[in-house]
Amino acid sequence: MAFNTLDAMDLDGKIVLTRVDINVPVSEGEVTDATRIKRIVPTVRSILAAGGKPVLLAHFGRPKGKIVPDMSLEITRSTLEHELHTIVKFADDCIGDIAQVAVDELETGQVLLLENTRFHPGEEANDAGFAAELAKLGDVYCNDAFSAAHRAHASTEGLARLLPSCAGRLMQSELQALEKALANPEHPVVAVVGGAKVSSKLELLGNLIPRVDAIVIGGGMANTFLAAQGVNVGKSLCEHDLADTALEILEQAKNADCTILLPIDAIIAKEFKAGAQNRCVAIDACPEDAMILDAGPKSVALIEECFAKAKTLVWNGPLGAFEIPPFNQATDDAALKAAELTKNGSLMSVAGGGDTVSALNQSGAAKDFTYVSTAGGAFLEWLEGKTLPGVAVLNG
Ligand code: AMP
Repeated sequence: MAFNTLDAMDLDGKIVLTRVDINVPVSEGEVTDATRIKRIVPTVRSILAAGGKPVLLAHFGRPKGKIVPDMSLEITRSTLEHELHTIVKFADDCIGDIAQVAVDELETGQVLLLENTRFHPGEEANDAGFAAELAKLGDVYCNDAFSAAHRAHASTEGLARLLPSCAGRLMQSELQALEKALANPEHPVVAVVGGAKVSSKLELLGNLIPRVDAIVIGGGMANTFLAAQGVNVGKSLCEHDLADTALEILEQAKNADCTILLPIDAIIAKEFKAGAQNRCVAIDACPEDAMILDAGPKSVALIEECFAKAKTLVWNGPLGAFEIPPFNQATDDAALKAAELTKNGSLMSVAGGGDTVSALNQSGAAKDFTYVSTAGGAFLEWLEGKTLPGVAVLNG
């Protein structure tokens, strides 16, 4: 996948319209988690170092094309200043005279943050007129919002068609990690696909089967595969109506020489709550009134063996109901094993998707993975093999 980076652009004295994801959580007027803001720092610093003037474009919440004062990006300004160690100016609109005056007044070394792009209906509609209004403000477009790249909006796609465009540092590192993990990986490649439901991961499985050597299926979705093969899963979360689809997936995998690993033992309980009485049973011994809430230690041993033979790992979705201890055990143990192998240099590991990030953070494994993508929907669409419009338009 070819794309321009900041290094290929002449930024000296240029206004660089920089699409970032600073859609951070806030509470009582304060940013409560600055992770997303911290992650754009290398891009903004690179632009400043090259003599460019960064003008930040971003969305915040879902105002649906209307001005919603509670969704003003101004709330992020002081955190941006703190993280960037420079003056961050703010303009009350992202187009028109207000934005133009703020751009004209911006001094070298300073950063300008424009108001929420989603206050205008043209943003989500990818309206050509709105994109042109944005383009008028700058000389170069830099997209550093991989997490918004699956949406063809004016500030993520339309604008890139109107100005010389490139990927920011975060987008660049994300794309390089993803490329190494699936487009051009070192084999054997193993994928972990866990989570609640098969129905939300059909496209993902379809894309992975021809590309990887093994898929570990875990979480609630493993129950659907087990039940389809005639295993009694009691009152576990299970999509019984997808039995035929599950069998077809197993057949597809067999034809593609892709090994599917399902749990061979399970942690079961009668209730889904913290402290619920639980025990480990063989996978075919779940009583009618119990549910499978995690993979058991024998399954984890198999997964760890599979990881030890692999060179590349792609992970999406927990192996159990990890939010409620002790049903986090299989996810934690397997993730820590992957982290250890990565640290030893024998495995390249990439993980992502909403719950996966919290599961890997909770176990402490995330910091030793090669790359943990916080991109959510965009990461999933990439795993599904889809072209991301915000990336496709940056091809150099
Ligand atoms: P997903 O969003 O599809 O990745 O699914 C993540 C959710 O699946 C988490 O909230 C887990 O608690 C849930 N989950 C994983 N395994 C199970 C299970 N065996 N039974 C019920 N929920 C599960």
